[in-house]
Amino acid sequence: MPRHTLQPRCAGCGLIPARCLCAKLPRTELPWPLAIVQHGKEAGKPTNTARLVARVVANARLLPFARRGAPWSAAALGGGDVERFVLFPAADARPLDRDWCAARRGRPTELVLLDGTWRQAGRMVRRADGIATLPRVALPPGPPSRWRIRSAPRGDQLCTFETVVRLAAIGADAAAAALLERAFQQLLGAQGRNPACDHEAREGGEALDASEALDSDGEFDERDE
Ligand SMILES: [Zn+2]
Repeated sequence: MPRHTLQPRCAGCGLIPARCLCAKLPRTELPWPLAIVQHGKEAGKPTNTARLVARVVANARLLPFARRGAPWSAAALGGGDVERFVLFPAADARPLDRDWCAARRGRPTELVLLDGTWRQAGRMVRRADGIATLPRVALPPGPPSRWRIRSAPRGDQLCTFETVVRLAAIGADAAAAALLERAFQQLLGAQGRNPACDHEAREGGEALDASEALDSDGEFDERDE
């Protein structure tokens, strides 16, 4: 049995029932809808924050990737009536800053976020049908991550929820940005008091450096599928 299923978990927030945040989390919208492509290995992890984004951000949707028996199809992203951009810190990524937000105003836009380890996200962005061909955007440099639950090799690597907090700080109105920041602080508080998550943190993350994920040209391997 995987270690993260040893305790019962709330299906909504991934926390143990006594710490469930679901009823306390606020709800808001971002200026652009989010399609969060979630690697199959992430779906059952209590430390995964994409499910919380989907709870808090009304215009965010989760799309399963690399689930057993359910191959990824670009059709999952939906039709071509919207311009999509994938958020990934590649060398050719355009900085997602206030100028970018201004340029997108009034133009149907969807941001695709990749939810997985750096190695998984690197493979998705290079190879996945419908994702590999999307223009890339990246968050501008910011302060180090405040998320300490899963170790990332570099301080600027963010969990999915924190990524969305940064997106909101750049492109959302002040009320939505403040609400997301507050929700993230709730999450940091709840996770910080959760011994099961401390255990997982000690086990260490699978994360790799983003450049390594990009340079590697391996096929999807058994471990990732
Ligand atoms: Zn919950």
